Amino acid sequence: MTRGSGRSPFAPDVLPDGRRRYSHRAVVARRTLLVGVVAAGTSIGVVATRAGGVDDSPGVVGVAGGDPAVHDAAAQPAPSATPPAHSLTEAGSPWVIVNKQHPIAPHDYAPEIAVVGGKEVASTIAADLQGLLAAAKSATVSLGVTSGFRSLAHQQDVHDNAVARDGVESAESVSARPGYSEHQTGLAVDFSGSSRPGCLLENCFGQTPEYDWLVANAGRFGFLRRYPDDKTDVTGYAPEPWHWRWVGTDLVAQMAAKGVTTMEEFFGVSGGSTYA
Ligand SMILES: [Zn+2]
Repeated sequence: MTRGSGRSPFAPDVLPDGRRRYSHRAVVARRTLLVGVVAAGTSIGVVATRAGGVDDSPGVVGVAGGDPAVHDAAAQPAPSATPPAHSLTEAGSPWVIVNKQHPIAPHDYAPEIAVVGGKEVASTIAADLQGLLAAAKSATVSLGVTSGFRSLAHQQDVHDNAVARDGVESAESVSARPGYSEHQTGLAVDFSGSSRPGCLLENCFGQTPEYDWLVANAGRFGFLRRYPDDKTDVTGYAPEPWHWRWVGTDLVAQMAAKGVTTMEEFFGVSGGSTYA
């Protein structure tokens, strides 16, 4: 199933500022945006090249418009009967839903990249992620980023390795097929904590002080736990306490107000463990 513009009941969305009009097809998949992140009291790194990156595509620099520091300031709470303030289908949208029913379009999409906490992420989330890490540090919580943006090629490797290691069935519950990973949007982050290093990308991360801090504070920075313990049937993924998705504070607040914990349920979008 491809993500045609007519697939979503909400499509097409045209944002007032036109920030998502730029063509990611025209811009190459491999590019790096140097974002001037001022890291006050944090260990935010900014790099200018993709040396040592996850694939070997030529590093052509593209400019795709839009201010990475500005996101959903124009978003208003969306009554259920009206279209969402942001596209649910465009890969660069803060509210894009990527799951096993809804692959990324275009398949080889890559966002503008910033580096925060030593990892590549979409530049749109850089300021909030930086703020989150700085707040954690101020609270003496040892949060780090272990994975952010993953290219199509990188996800292929991750998935192949998971299948080789765990078998298809087990791997598919935790590792997205290439083109279906939220990490390819650059909006998803896997957090790590140093209190229990053995819990890196393990369920016991959910019993760490770092996780508790995220539960209490990540929403202030627009991050949502994407794969809750009790929503595997909805999300298509086993619980992942380390995997958080930036959606912006407006949507976090809207979902919390309704007591809804998944994007699929909030927007009425299909999900689950079956690939489209
Ligand atoms: Zn993840």
